[in-house]
Amino acid sequence: MSKKQVIAVDIDEVLMPHFVDLITWYNAKFGTTLTEYDNHPTDPGNWGTDDVTVAIKRVHQFYDTQEFMDSKPFKEARKELEFLGSYYDLIVVTARDTILEAATTDWISRHFKELFQSIHFTKHFNLEGQRRDKVEVLRELNVSYFIDDSLANIDLAAAAGIQSVLFGDYAWNQADVLPKNVTRCKNWLEVSDYFEDILSARLVDSQIKRPTISHEELVAKLKRDGLL
Ligand SMILES: [Mg+2]
Repeated sequence: MSKKQVIAVDIDEVLMPHFVDLITWYNAKFGTTLTEYDNHPTDPGNWGTDDVTVAIKRVHQFYDTQEFMDSKPFKEARKELEFLGSYYDLIVVTARDTILEAATTDWISRHFKELFQSIHFTKHFNLEGQRRDKVEVLRELNVSYFIDDSLANIDLAAAAGIQSVLFGDYAWNQADVLPKNVTRCKNWLEVSDYFEDILSARLVDSQIKRPTISHEELVAKLKRDGLL
């Protein structure tokens, strides 16, 4: 069994932009005025209904659109994740619902091939009561690092002792202060820098400076030293 540490990665707004496309479509269809501040809602009011079930079913209609099917990953995500995949086991943990399992699995394999070892659905807006907490899933899977754009998820993971990356600089994830084991990375290049710093710190004892060796040599060295 692999002894690599595990990084859990969210999908929406982390691997791909989603919310702005969704609300643009939703506002046009249902005459609402949703903005970026309405992401991660706890109240359906702004979604043009008092009934959460109605709002969720409306959102489900978006998942049938070609626009959603054709969503592209963020630039650099694939390349930087390939780099991270040399050092860590990568998994996906998404709040998406059961009805999106097939489309999501297909999208991940189309854009990220075999990079992720598994995909876990926490079904945050499930209508049949199957919702799970992300942090509970992260703990079960022994996750060491978590990358997500939701402040609430990141706060909970950090409180559970999981090193976390708050991804993006979005209207919905602004904060004056972040927990000490949380780092904001605005894009995938910053995520890559964050992990390169962590990996370099592991090399202090071996006197190897990161830029002097290739990724492959670094992996070999870490393996020889029992660090991977
Ligand atoms: Mg997200």
